[in-house]
Amino acid sequence: MRIGHGYDVHAFAPDRKLILAGVTIDHELGLAGHSDADVVTHALMDALLGAAKLPDIGELFPDTDETYRGTDSIALLQEVAGLVRAKGYAIEDVDITIACQAPKLKPYKKDMAETLADALQFTSDRVGVKATTTEGLGFVGRKEGIAAWAVVLLGEQATYRCC
Ligand code: MG
Repeated sequence: MRIGHGYDVHAFAPDRKLILAGVTIDHELGLAGHSDADVVTHALMDALLGAAKLPDIGELFPDTDETYRGTDSIALLQEVAGLVRAKGYAIEDVDITIACQAPKLKPYKKDMAETLADALQFTSDRVGVKATTTEGLGFVGRKEGIAAWAVVLLGEQATYRCC
């Protein structure tokens, strides 16, 4: 087994869509960023890459590269999942925590898990998506941005298993 951890933060900005785990959230602000600023998918990609000991997303998809301006992070996640599988790993489990004071994410969590599971080509019962506030504390509590953490477990692909 291999374990990976990823973390990301993006600041709120006007005139941007709020996209979390590939799902468009109804909110008056979006997140600032070079890509679609999907902070959840970015944390998940770094967790996958860390577990597989591959370069992080900053190296793979640099924000100085115009190719990635406004890009759909779910498409990048599919690319990352392909790299992980090409290195001989199966994605076994995913768990995510999103720290967000507003908007409330409860109505979107199921959609987020299903969207990520589709991108990873496995079932949503292996994708945990949890949302929390920070009780008004820190930059999240001041509604300045959103933070996300992801943990993933990779297994050796079947050909490498002994039993
Ligand atoms: Mg990011």
